[in-house]
Amino acid sequence: MKGFYDVVVVGAGAAGLSCALNLDPSFEVCLISKKDMSEANSYLAQGGISAKRVNEDIDDYIEDTLRAGHYENDPEVVRDILDNSLEVVKSLIGYGVPFEKDEQDQYSLHKEGGHRLARVYHVGDFTGKSICETMAQRVMSSPNIDVCEDTTFYDLIVEGDRAIGIKVYAKGRYQNIYSRAIVIATGGIGGIFDSSTNFKSISGEGLSIAIKHGVEVSNIEYVQIHPTVLYDQEKGRHSLITEALRGEGGILLDKNGKRFIDELKPRDIVSKAIRSKMEADRSDYVYLSLENIHNRDRVDENFPTVFNACMEKGIDIRNDMIPICPGQHYHMGGITAQIDGQTSMKALYAIGEAACTGLHGRNRLASNSLLEACYCGMRCSENINISIDDFITEIKENHETRDIDEILEDHHRLLIDRIRERNKDFYEYWLKNENA
Ligand SMILES: Cc1cc2nc3c(=O)[nH]c(=O)nc-3n(C[C@H](O)[C@H](O)[C@H](O)COP(=O)(O)OP(=O)(O)OC[C@H]3O[C@@H](n4cnc5c(N)ncnc54)[C@H](O)[C@@H]3O)c2cc1C
Repeated sequence: MKGFYDVVVVGAGAAGLSCALNLDPSFEVCLISKKDMSEANSYLAQGGISAKRVNEDIDDYIEDTLRAGHYENDPEVVRDILDNSLEVVKSLIGYGVPFEKDEQDQYSLHKEGGHRLARVYHVGDFTGKSICETMAQRVMSSPNIDVCEDTTFYDLIVEGDRAIGIKVYAKGRYQNIYSRAIVIATGGIGGIFDSSTNFKSISGEGLSIAIKHGVEVSNIEYVQIHPTVLYDQEKGRHSLITEALRGEGGILLDKNGKRFIDELKPRDIVSKAIRSKMEADRSDYVYLSLENIHNRDRVDENFPTVFNACMEKGIDIRNDMIPICPGQHYHMGGITAQIDGQTSMKALYAIGEAACTGLHGRNRLASNSLLEACYCGMRCSENINISIDDFITEIKENHETRDIDEILEDHHRLLIDRIRERNKDFYEYWLKNENA
């Protein structure tokens, strides 16, 4: 890791990879990940990436996205991203992502909650892993990109009105890295919750650091709770039971075997219905029944990630119902950013889940986030390629003395306090117990 790069991209999930890959190859780029590259939520995406159908009226897809977002989305942003969705899928196919096809050699698309049509391109139920590994291979073979794993970003270096670098902790040492452009692609905030489908290490430091430096943020209280997370008494990362299983005919049943909600309603509505049912029944979970799904006999082959996660807990989804409960899953809020990543601070960009572009409004439509991460990553690099400029500064050594865990804890506390200020009810129910 050097002390100066043209561009530093913090985060190596779908957003960071897509940005790094599309930067001008003459730039020296540093791509940072907190743990190893595969510890990014993008790798966990099971359902897939959504795109407009070839002959579909784009207004239907826009309406589904707006309805899921409670019409708090930015309609121009929604139109731009969805209009370009097929191009994003094509470029991933161009990189070599093997999206699944049917017997007629047509792409096999899944239907997920909130979508009126099947629009979701997938690779088994490990789409995110396939997309990221394909992009990561290209990144690894790009001589201009320095990949720095096990490197923790813990502060920005700001001079006047512009970002000029970042502070990191790696291999027991603190270091400053100066850069002409800094991209925050640090993902969501699941790590601050005890029950989340996210990796524990993805805990919102990018957002917290932005808040600390007065960068504009939006909707930080808009946190998505996923309706179907595998029930587990233990704390830590909990397995997601993909929405696609409900799209294929899976139904939710209470402890008496009774159905209580239309399973394909948007996530927030289904989550609330499950929570009310659990409270009424004084139960810690409800059941997902796969009795009537298509290709019931091949459920283990079609959904290997879910099959294996359940098997580890002694649940055989070929025969058993799955105990599920809602859990933290996605952050709609984030650093206010344009589609091309520009934030309110000069030379600072934000993309992917760390950003709030206005695509999702109050609630994200399933499979729109890999799309946003990949598309905004590309647009951000185009923006940097034409607008990057130079600055002159005095290079300073990093003399940090605090413990890194203490620094990160302060960041998490700042975030939790902000969420509490903005939505006390949400805090009381989902955050207080874990982080009191
Ligand atoms: C279980 C699960 C299933 C999902 N399924 C789908 C799906 O089917 N379709 C869909 O569209 N979306 C899905 N999502 C959401 C989607 O995966 C993410 O929203 C999206 O991939 C986020 O991409 P990202 O690149 O912004 O962040 P991430 O992929 O989370 O990457 C964040 C990166 O930032 C780095 N980072 C974080 N903090 C620091 C720090 N302090 N210092 C250095 N590096 C840091 C991490 O190491 C990582 O490399 C799912 C999410 C989960 C958890």
